[in-house]
Amino acid sequence: MEKHISVAIDGPSGAGKSTLAKRAAKHFGFIYVDTGAIYRTVGYAAQCAELDSKDAAGVEALLPGLDIRFEYDGTGTQRMLLNGRDVSKEIRTPKSSIYASDAAAMPAVRAYLLEMQRETAKNYDVLMDGRDIGTVVLPDAGLKVFLTASTQARAERRCKELREKGMDTPFEEVLRDIEYRDRQDSSRAAAPLRAADDAVTLDTTDMDFEESFEALKKLIRERFSL
Ligand code: C5P
Repeated sequence: MEKHISVAIDGPSGAGKSTLAKRAAKHFGFIYVDTGAIYRTVGYAAQCAELDSKDAAGVEALLPGLDIRFEYDGTGTQRMLLNGRDVSKEIRTPKSSIYASDAAAMPAVRAYLLEMQRETAKNYDVLMDGRDIGTVVLPDAGLKVFLTASTQARAERRCKELREKGMDTPFEEVLRDIEYRDRQDSSRAAAPLRAADDAVTLDTTDMDFEESFEALKKLIRERFSL
C-alpha cells in the first residue's frame, strides 16, 4: 500500500494551528483536517439537544444517531455537516467551544471519532491539527509539531479571528474561554493535551503569521525532503 505523508500539529486553543495548518496544507498539496471542528460538531449536537454540556450519558446516547461528515469547499475550507446540515459557523461561538471541550473529555466521544480521523490519514497526505494527533490518533506521523504561544497572545489572536468572522466577542470572555479549555484539555484523563515525546515545539508568541508559516514550512520541507 502506498504510504501517505502525515503531519500532526497539536497545541492549546488559539495557538494559530488551524490558520497555519490550512495554509501549509495548501502549499504542499495535502488535505487539511481540523479535528477540533469535529469535536465542536459533537458539542453542538449536544447543545441542540439541550443537554447539559457535561452530561456524558446523554451525549453518549446521542452518538449512534449522529451523522457527522466533513467536506471541502472550493477554497479548501473544511465544512462540517451534522445530519446533512452545514454547521460550520454555529460551531464557532464561545458557548460551543465549551460544549466541544466538555464533549472532548468524554472517552466515548473520543473513541467514536478516532476511526474517522485515522481513516482520512490512511487515504491522503494529511496535515491534521488537534490536541492528541501526535500522541493518540497518528502516533506514527512522519512529523509532529507542538504549536504553542502565551495565553495573552492566543486570546488576542482568537479575538481578532472572531471579529473577522463578524462575531465581536469581549477580550475577557475569549481569555476566560481559553483558560478554561487549557485547564480542561491538559488535565482530562482521556487523551490529555501534551506534546508527543518526539514532537518539535514551535512557540509563536513573538512571531507574526508569516514568520510562523515560514518556520512550519521549513520543518515540513526538511523532514520529508520536499
Ligand atoms: O481546536 P479547537 O479549539 O477548535 O477544538 C475545540 C475543542 O475540541 C478543544 O477545546 C478540545 O477540547 C477538543 N479537541 C480535542 N482533541 C482534538 C481536537 C480538539 O480534545 N484532537
